[in-house]
Amino acid sequence: MQKKLSASLKNFSALRIGGLADTVYFPETMAELTELLDEQPARPVVGGCTNVFFGDLPELICTKYLNKINEISSGLEAECGALLEKLFDFAAGVPATVGGGVIMNFGAFGFELKDFLRSAQVWQGGAIKILPVTELRLGYRSADFAGIVLSAVFEKKQLEKKNEYLKLRQEKMPWGQPNIGSIFKNPAGLSAGKLIEDAGLKGYKYKDLQVAEKHANIVVNNGAASARDLLALIAQIRQTVRERTNILLETEARYLGQIENGAGR
Ligand SMILES: Cc1cc2nc3c(=O)[nH]c(=O)nc-3n(C[C@H](O)[C@H](O)[C@H](O)COP(=O)(O)OP(=O)(O)OC[C@H]3O[C@@H](n4cnc5c(N)ncnc54)[C@H](O)[C@@H]3O)c2cc1C
Repeated sequence: MQKKLSASLKNFSALRIGGLADTVYFPETMAELTELLDEQPARPVVGGCTNVFFGDLPELICTKYLNKINEISSGLEAECGALLEKLFDFAAGVPATVGGGVIMNFGAFGFELKDFLRSAQVWQGGAIKILPVTELRLGYRSADFAGIVLSAVFEKKQLEKKNEYLKLRQEKMPWGQPNIGSIFKNPAGLSAGKLIEDAGLKGYKYKDLQVAEKHANIVVNNGAASARDLLALIAQIRQTVRERTNILLETEARYLGQIENGAGR
């Protein structure tokens, strides 16, 4: 198994925000992954890091080498580190993985992963179980089960509109600038981006961070932003929107780490 010591997590997050990890593990077999979890269940697991930003961490497990996809009688079985865009056109252009996709119930263009998912193999407190999709309790950018996704079985692939969806994404998003997609979830029936824009924050700059001109629910890193900066900006946006509308935005982006050492350089 590959390991990186004193690794800068900045290079992992798609937003290029991260402190230091003492050790990042890159398991190359499922047995290596489950051994790491059996040994220390609290080790955080990431896939494509397209929805996370980091502070400092003692340890991290990255699943990118667990990426096999096999055709089986009931559909397709994909390991947790397999890229979603190899299976689904609605993820085209986003280097997100099956594990992170299940945890977030990745969705776009009217589709959600749960529309295609049959079951997931999950590590739960030392046991390996197969949970049917109903037991994963997937909702809007959420899953409600304890455990680490080892692999998932999907009914079928859908790749027909890859180019069309990629083009739409490129038009809608600050393409090519470091970002992790939507920072906030849309409140029921409303658009978080519109609420942020109406609060006058589109294009707002805080240190090296900027609320994207193209999409107010996306924040881009113009250089050397830290986790501390992003947490502060998130708090500012939530407060401004709340004062104006009485709506408290819920974050979709995930923060992993501790801030103690001024991390996130
Ligand atoms: C350019 C861009 C466009 C995006 N567009 C969309 C979009 O259209 N729709 C959408 O829903 N999201 C979008 N996102 C956000 C992101 O891609 C999704 O949230 C995606 O599901 C995250 O997958 P990941 O593998 O990168 O997960 P990570 O960012 O690595 O992790 C996300 C969360 O899942 C956990 N996790 C990761 N792997 C596992 C595992 N195997 N078992 C248990 N927990 C795990 C992590 O600990 C973390 O809490 C976009 C992001 C970017 C950068």
